[in-house]
Amino acid sequence: MHIMDGKLVAKETREQIKNEVNAFYEKYKSIPGLAVVQVGDNQASSVYVRNKHTACREVGMVSYEVHLPENISERDLLHEIELLNNDIAVDGILVQLPLPKHINESNIINAINPSKDVDAFHPINVGKIMVGNYDMLPCTPAGVMTLLDYYNIDPAGQRALIIGRSNIVGKPMMHLMLERNATVVCAHSKTRKDDLLRLFAVSDIVISATGVRNIIDEDDAWQYFKDYRHDFYNTFKKRERVIIDVGINRDENGKLCGDFSETFKEAYANFYTPVPGGVGPMTITSLLRNTLKAAEILRKQR
Ligand code: NAP
Repeated sequence: MHIMDGKLVAKETREQIKNEVNAFYEKYKSIPGLAVVQVGDNQASSVYVRNKHTACREVGMVSYEVHLPENISERDLLHEIELLNNDIAVDGILVQLPLPKHINESNIINAINPSKDVDAFHPINVGKIMVGNYDMLPCTPAGVMTLLDYYNIDPAGQRALIIGRSNIVGKPMMHLMLERNATVVCAHSKTRKDDLLRLFAVSDIVISATGVRNIIDEDDAWQYFKDYRHDFYNTFKKRERVIIDVGINRDENGKLCGDFSETFKEAYANFYTPVPGGVGPMTITSLLRNTLKAAEILRKQR
């Protein structure tokens, strides 16, 4: 059983990015810049935003803090985005979500220059991923692919189960796994529990992004399979699978945990990502990679 160490892979990847930022400076005599827009003072958002600024500075990029009041109007926020679109010192723009309820998130995302859209949420970038001709990938799915590659896990010909179909994780994850020639199935909240268990049993790679603790556990499996077909239960118990746990939840003691318990992953996977320390550190690493990529693209356009 192997733990996929996101902290280690993120550290090594950030070292590479730091070297690439130096090379970028030598080539263009400028430094890639990321603007992080935060609206209001949501505590969790403030932590994420702070981590992004720190990560940027650690690899030698500039990060700009655009902290706006909770009651800013959508029109004024769109104006701020326009200023950043036109600012040549800004290569990447990230708007920390969620936004206050009176602001339409799609309108804001659609206003970001797609070349500066380092989250890759703009419909143009989403479309490019669909047709497999993209410059930037959404940060979390990109981080998952980096982890799979680092551990030499080739999705080609493997059965991949993606649990969750959000625009930021599940859906792009499906496209990336398909592009890498996996056979992909996507489950969601309307998937029947018995189907979810059977799909889990026969999958080689399971990627879960639901925010639901213990999305699958041993008790569920036993309850379902004991009255059904024993060979499925035996398949369920095989240990060769890979489990990528994207979920971030809190247990009853307030401790961070994933969609699966650590003991479950240890028992039912050959390779798995822990929570914390698995996919999380890879997400910000992908953001740094996207900012550098955006900076390259914008320099070539000038
Ligand atoms: P989201 O937008 O809330 O989507 C959750 C998805 O899970 C939905 O597609 C939902 O199905 C599905 N789902 C909910 N209950 C389910 C169930 N019982 N069985 C099967 N599917 C179920 O969340 P998200 O933004 O994708 O994030 C998902 C989780 O990943 C969260 O815990 C989040 O904190 C975490 N996350 C972690 C990172 C990281 O860097 N580690 C990054 C992003 C997100 P429906 O579509 O039918 O509602």
